[in-house]
Amino acid sequence: MTKHFGIRTRTTDPDRWINLPWEKSFTFPRFFYSTKADLGNVAAAKIKALTAELKELDSSNSDAIERIKTGFTQFKTEKYLKNSTLFNHLAKTQTPKFLVFACSDSRVCPSHILNFQPGEAFVVRNIANMVPPFDQKRHSGVGAAIEYAVVHLKVENILVIGHSCCGGIKGLMSIEDDAAPTQSDFIENWVKIGASARNKIKEEHKDLSYDDQCNKCEKEAVNVSLGNLLSYPFVRAEVVKNTLAIRGGHYNFVKGTFDLWELDFKTTPAFAFS
Ligand SMILES: [Zn+2]
Repeated sequence: MTKHFGIRTRTTDPDRWINLPWEKSFTFPRFFYSTKADLGNVAAAKIKALTAELKELDSSNSDAIERIKTGFTQFKTEKYLKNSTLFNHLAKTQTPKFLVFACSDSRVCPSHILNFQPGEAFVVRNIANMVPPFDQKRHSGVGAAIEYAVVHLKVENILVIGHSCCGGIKGLMSIEDDAAPTQSDFIENWVKIGASARNKIKEEHKDLSYDDQCNKCEKEAVNVSLGNLLSYPFVRAEVVKNTLAIRGGHYNFVKGTFDLWELDFKTTPAFAFS
């Protein structure tokens, strides 16, 4: 069994990728700067300083590099090479049944909590698992992912998963006044997609503690996202035809439970798995 699986890395030409064995995969900075040897003294001194910095960075990053290497090695030996039928099939095409929205939070990866295997779920992850409303200018990234999954991959299910202790929802719940200047470049404007959920929880659950309000908002924001999904004409069309189901979920990693509910959350009780 060889341990040298290699990794794709960039050359100095950003459009060109090459496969290198591990030993050569992480020497790019040295190679890159050595090509600048004909520059003047000032530039050469700057490059020397930069190279020294990069060497320091190299050693401080060695744990991360080692983690990436061992992670890929384990994946390749334990999964890729042992499931050649699956991966040969996936080399040709993908036919996922699910489009999943999940938070970027490191604790809530859908492939782990729902055991999705490669090829099963087309996944969008962002702060607080938000689905923004249809807006070709402001939200083209998310819109493109939904369009691709629904129109081209023809997924049959969309699942939006909220989770316990969500920092994004805490941020949303702590915005007192939408008109106040924002304290962040992106985060506040992004989580305000769920503003109607926040307003509803603050109004209907005034007496609850902040943490309990956040917990309720984690689920209510999922409902806002489910509603927003219907603002995409291609989603609405498939839902009307009954070829696409939309569901909300909430993963509580403190209790180890998962709630699941249908788009029509008012009439369909949540199923709880624990
Ligand atoms: Zn989160």
